[in-house]
Amino acid sequence: MKKFTGAVCAALLMLGLSATPAMAQTASAALPTFPVTLNGVVMEQQYAQYPLLVYKDITYVPMTWEETRLLGLETSYTQVDGLDVYKAAIVKEQAVLQGEYEPYTVTKANDKKHQAVVATGKIAVNHKSIDNGSEEYPLLLYRDITYFPLTWRFAVDEFGWDYTFDHTNGLVITPKATPTIANPPVNATQDVVGKKVIVNGSNVYLREAAGTGSEVTPFAVITDEQTGVKYPLADYELMPDMAIIDADLHMSAPKGLTSASGIDALTHALEAYASMLATDYTDGLALRSLKLVFENLPKCYDNGPNEPRARENMANAATMAGMAFANAFLGVCHSMAHKLGAFHHLPHGVANAILLPYIIEFNSGVTLIGRSQKEYPSCVRKYCNLARILGVSNMNEVTTIRALISYLHFLNAEMGIPSKVSEACSTLTKEDYEAAVESMAEAALRDGCTATNPRIPMKHEIMDIYRKIW
Ligand SMILES: [Zn+2]
Repeated sequence: MKKFTGAVCAALLMLGLSATPAMAQTASAALPTFPVTLNGVVMEQQYAQYPLLVYKDITYVPMTWEETRLLGLETSYTQVDGLDVYKAAIVKEQAVLQGEYEPYTVTKANDKKHQAVVATGKIAVNHKSIDNGSEEYPLLLYRDITYFPLTWRFAVDEFGWDYTFDHTNGLVITPKATPTIANPPVNATQDVVGKKVIVNGSNVYLREAAGTGSEVTPFAVITDEQTGVKYPLADYELMPDMAIIDADLHMSAPKGLTSASGIDALTHALEAYASMLATDYTDGLALRSLKLVFENLPKCYDNGPNEPRARENMANAATMAGMAFANAFLGVCHSMAHKLGAFHHLPHGVANAILLPYIIEFNSGVTLIGRSQKEYPSCVRKYCNLARILGVSNMNEVTTIRALISYLHFLNAEMGIPSKVSEACSTLTKEDYEAAVESMAEAALRDGCTATNPRIPMKHEIMDIYRKIW
């Protein structure tokens, strides 16, 4: 479930601690010459944009979003209080992290030696302020990122991690997972917002990446980690009393996550807008969400860490799309994407991205070579309206829908999303895929999202779409 996991993420501290160049105290650091394993992940140094550094024989770790969640650290920064690095309420388990850890990389190998500077400004560790300038192992700044020293004092005494160093395995640090989640909503919220919020056991949802919108929906998915089977849950009891949408948590989300979750949000809004249960209320949310996605997703993908406004707009867009589909529900794009995920482990956002242009073609009956018709299904008017708002409208219904479809293909290609399942699943053979098409189609028909699709699909039609996207 998406609930509460946001507590372990932290934003890139790019803005926080700007050392004054004239007064900056430099620190000559080097890449580690020994292996370093953080929470079960062996850290790659040569091509890391923010490699680990060694200064005065102490290993330093960059406080990026990826690395902080490896260690279960949380950071906060305000102009008044400065920087605080502290232990998060929840530490992610290794099995979850290994699939998700996706650090920034560079194409040119890193030099062995690096010049960092000592971070200035107010700094606290675990809410206790330190005088960084006179620390033996101060926090450093390198490539505009704050680096945290993995000293015994911090790692063991403050955070209580397992800490070993030997000549075979190098440095191995394992944060201890919180064994039970005792009343997590209260604690998690207090940690993230950094101040007391009295929520008295209410559900408070936090979101890690702009996309799912699940923090404002009655839907959740639980994955059985042993079998990989996903169990969808749908109940209005899952609706939160409060959702915290903080774009700071998305600033350093990697490109793959940004594009896939962004297209997922787009699909939520588009399917909610075309849904059989759409109302004026959900349409308003869906249309605004779509406009924000189209205007901001490419910026977040191209230059995410430096586009705070675009990240904020995407965060809002994803939540508005969530509010729209919490009430209007979705369509057959999601039904089919769920089965691509279940049968072939295709990531949810990528599956939606591949399917969506074909679903619009199917729902509208407008193909690349078809002629205009006297009457169209009602969703055609909605797709055309949407295309007009997005500025991709054209002469008539047919050419406008073609323009919308081709724009979606273009958006996928711009963000490096595969256009076919065969591209996305390199180890899957055509024969194995074909063998599963009928079962996938039957399961997609039974999926809860199919009921609100604007056109009722037949099994053979779903099978056709699965074959088209191979
Ligand atoms: Zn989705």
